[in-house]
Amino acid sequence: MDKENVVLRVDDLVKSFGALVATDHATFEVERGTITGLIGPNGAGKSTLFNLISGFYESDAGRVEVNGTDVTDMEPYDIADHGLIRTFQTPRKLEGMTVREAMLVGPREQPGESFIKLFTDPESVRQREQQNLDDAEQILEDFEIDHLATQPATKISGGQLKLVELARAMLAEPEILLLDEPAAGVNPTLRNKLAEQIRRLNEQGTTFLLIEHDMEFVMSLADPVIVLDRGHVLMEGTPDEVQNDERVIDAYLGG
Ligand code: ADP
Ligand code: MG
Repeated sequence: MDKENVVLRVDDLVKSFGALVATDHATFEVERGTITGLIGPNGAGKSTLFNLISGFYESDAGRVEVNGTDVTDMEPYDIADHGLIRTFQTPRKLEGMTVREAMLVGPREQPGESFIKLFTDPESVRQREQQNLDDAEQILEDFEIDHLATQPATKISGGQLKLVELARAMLAEPEILLLDEPAAGVNPTLRNKLAEQIRRLNEQGTTFLLIEHDMEFVMSLADPVIVLDRGHVLMEGTPDEVQNDERVIDAYLGG
């Protein structure tokens, strides 16, 4: 693949938990502008891979590159700075905050930088905060959840929380967004809205790496699809190729 077009490169990545090899020499690339699917049976190591790529776990061996920069085992906020943001399979509880407030503690915040600027350039800090507020409002509107803005973040449904997670992640304006089962626990109506938003953001230039259990959801959105089995990349192909591959059928039925 043309180097310029690779936004994420995972090379020979390894991670064990005791005797369990959760990531077993995983190697793949994500091409800029794609919605790349990542599927595999329960326990295949999909979430572990996200944790390694985004800096939440430390790898045993291997390399992760974002836009050609080696980000292996950097801190999550440094990796976010390089344009890679991820969501969690189970969104963290946002206690004591409204939905709007929850959106503003997004990963784009740089408290250290703002703190210094507060003294040297207070006007730019004020402008930045207003911009963040406007962006948050716009995204809530785009997702048709602006009516929830003043609700306690703990009071909204699981599906709505997933949309808020995605909206928060978008505020960081990532180049590549890693979504861990965004449709899980989301009702069919919201699920369609979620798919629409992913498609729309992708058309505006965001690259996606999408873990999803719901085959219909992932196969209708993603191309290519990468199949993970026991920590290893089993194959990669178009949704059609993947769905008709004997090894994939075996891994799922045997898994
Ligand atoms: P998937 O997301 O594909 O369902 P995971 O990445 O969550 O799979 O898990 C892969 C394997 O790694 C599982 O056997 C899981 O129990 C194990 N695992 C994941 N995280 C940890 C951890 N922090 N400590 C120990 N084992 C873990
Ligand atoms: Mg998982």
